[in-house]
Amino acid sequence: MGIIRALASEVVAKIAAGEVVERPASVVKELVENALDAGATEIKIEIQGGGRKLIRVTDNGEGMSPEDALLAVERHTTSKISSAADLFAVQTFGFRGEALSAIAAVSKMKIFTGRDQGLAGFEIHVEGGSVIQSREAAASKGTSVEVRHLFFNVPVRLKFLKSPGTELGHISDTIARLALANDRVRFQLFHEGRLLAHYPLRPEAAARLAEALGREAGEKMYRFSYRNGEVEIAGYAGEPGYNRSNTRGVYLFVNRRPVRDRLLYHAVQEAYRPLLAKERNPVVLLFVNLPAGEVDVNVHPSKGEVKFVDPDRVHRSVISAIRQMLESSPWHSKAVVPLNEARESGKEYSSSFLSEDFPLKGLGGAQPGWNPAGEFPSGKTGFGQIRKTYLVLTTDDGITLIDQHAAHERITVEKLQDQFFEKEIRKQLLMMPETLELPLSEAQVVMEHVQDLDKMGFSLEPAGERTFWVRAVPEIVASREPLQILQEMIGEISSWGKGTELNRQFSTLIHMLACRGAVQASQTLRSEEALSLLEQLEKCISPARCPHGRPTFIKISADDLDKMFQRK
Ligand code: ADP
Ligand code: MG
Repeated sequence: MGIIRALASEVVAKIAAGEVVERPASVVKELVENALDAGATEIKIEIQGGGRKLIRVTDNGEGMSPEDALLAVERHTTSKISSAADLFAVQTFGFRGEALSAIAAVSKMKIFTGRDQGLAGFEIHVEGGSVIQSREAAASKGTSVEVRHLFFNVPVRLKFLKSPGTELGHISDTIARLALANDRVRFQLFHEGRLLAHYPLRPEAAARLAEALGREAGEKMYRFSYRNGEVEIAGYAGEPGYNRSNTRGVYLFVNRRPVRDRLLYHAVQEAYRPLLAKERNPVVLLFVNLPAGEVDVNVHPSKGEVKFVDPDRVHRSVISAIRQMLESSPWHSKAVVPLNEARESGKEYSSSFLSEDFPLKGLGGAQPGWNPAGEFPSGKTGFGQIRKTYLVLTTDDGITLIDQHAAHERITVEKLQDQFFEKEIRKQLLMMPETLELPLSEAQVVMEHVQDLDKMGFSLEPAGERTFWVRAVPEIVASREPLQILQEMIGEISSWGKGTELNRQFSTLIHMLACRGAVQASQTLRSEEALSLLEQLEKCISPARCPHGRPTFIKISADDLDKMFQRK
C-alpha cells in the first residue's frame, strides 16, 4: 500500500511538472520570479548546455529557514497563501506553491539558502523529487537554486527540447521580459561562463529597453500612460516605421507579470491597424495594472494566460493608451540628420525629415504664386510637382514634400472607415448590372457574405448557382475596374475560411479599396486638386502616414536648412 501511494504521488508530481516545466526557460522563469518575490535586488542566472545541463539562479533576497526550504520542495507548499480566499488577492509572482517541487521532481536540484549574515546557512539536495541530503552550509544571505540534468527521469520531455541555442534564446527572452518589468533589479545572464546579458541598475528606461530589445528600441520607442478607472496602462510603443514580421516584439505584462494574452495582443494590433500593413507587427512593451480582484492570473499553471473580469474595458483602454501616443507622433519632432547621411542611408531619409507641422499650417491662407486655374505647377513657383508623384510646397517656414499617392491613400482609408462605421461604404448604382461568374467554392463564400459585401459597397444578387448580378459598386472605385477589385476581395474572403466574421476583417478590405481608389503616383494633379488633397489630409486622424506605414509628407524646416548650410 505504501508503495502504491509513493508511486502515485510521484506520478502526480511528474504530471504537475509537465504543466509548469515545459522547457529550461520555464524553470528560469519560476526561479527568477521566486527570487523577485523574496525581495532580491541582484539576480544572477547561470546556464550550461542551453539549460539542460545546468540552470543556477542566485539571489540576494531574504532567504529561507531550513524548515521552509525543506517544505518548499514538497508539493503545494507556499509561504504566500494560507487560505483559498488569498488566492484571488496575490500580488507576488508565485502563489501556487508547486513550482519548486515540480522542478525538483524532474531534475537534480540543490538549494543553498541563508536568512541572515552570521547565522549558518542550509543546503538541500533533491533527486527526482526525493530529498537525499540536507545539512548546514556556509552562511550567506540569499538563495541559490541549482537545477541539473533537467528531465533526466522524463525522457519523453527531453525529446521535445530544441537545440541548446534555441533553448538559450528562450531563456534570454524570458530574462529580457522579467528585466523589463523589474527595473529596480540587476540581472546578469551567463552561458558557459560567458556574460550574455547584463541589466545594470540605470535610471533611464531607454537603457534597459536597449539592452532587452536592441539599440534601435531605445531610440524608437515612446512612453505612454493611461488610466481608465481602476485600469492602469503604461509602457513603450515603437514608432510605426519600427516594426517586425512576427509578434515577438510585443511584450505584455499584467501586474508586472509577463503574460501571453490574446486579448492584449489583439488590442495592441488594433491600435496600430491604421498605421501598419497587415503582415507587419509593432514593437510594444505593455504594462496593464489592475486590482487583484479585476484579474484572474490563476487560469494557467505557468501563469502565461490571464482572465479579466471586464475584458472589454481592458481592450478599449489599451487601444486608447497606444493610439493617444501614436496620434501625437512624437517621433516627428526628432532631430534632423545631415543631408549627406540621409542620402547614404536611403530608407532613413524619410523618417529623419518628418515634422510635426502639417503643410498647410505654414500657409495661413495666403498662397503666393499659386495659379488656381492652371495645372499644379512644376517648380516654377512656390508650388510644384516632381515626377508627377511628389507635391512640393514652399512656405516661409520651409519646404514640405508630399507623396500624393500615400496622402490620398490615408485620406481614402479614413473616409471609408467613417462610412463603414456609420452605415455602409457609399455606393454607385450601375445602369446595367454586370454579370459575375465564379468558381463554385467562391460562389458559396459570396452567398455567405452577400450582406457583408453590401456593407462594403458591392450589391450582388444571385442569378444562378455560380453567377451573380452586380448592381452597385463602391463609389470610390466606380471608375477603376470595380469588378476586378470585387474578385480580389472575394479571393481574400475565401482565404479566411468559413465562419470568419467579416466585421473583424473589414479593415483589410477597406485597405484594398483605398489602395485602388487612391490617386496613383504618375498622375498630374491640377492645382485645386492638389490643394484639396492637402486640406483633406490635414483633417485626417493620422495624417503623417499612409495605411502601409510610409510617410505621407516630409518637412524640411527653415531651421533645418540653416543647420544643413551650417548657419547654426
Ligand atoms: P510559490 O512561489 O508559488 O510560493 P514555489 O514552489 O515557487 O511556490 O516556492 C515555494 C516557496 O519557497 C515560496 O513560497 C517561498 O517561500 C520559498 N522560496 C522559493 N524560492 C525562494 C527564494 N529564491 N528565496 C526565498 N524563498 C524562496
Ligand atoms: Mg514561485
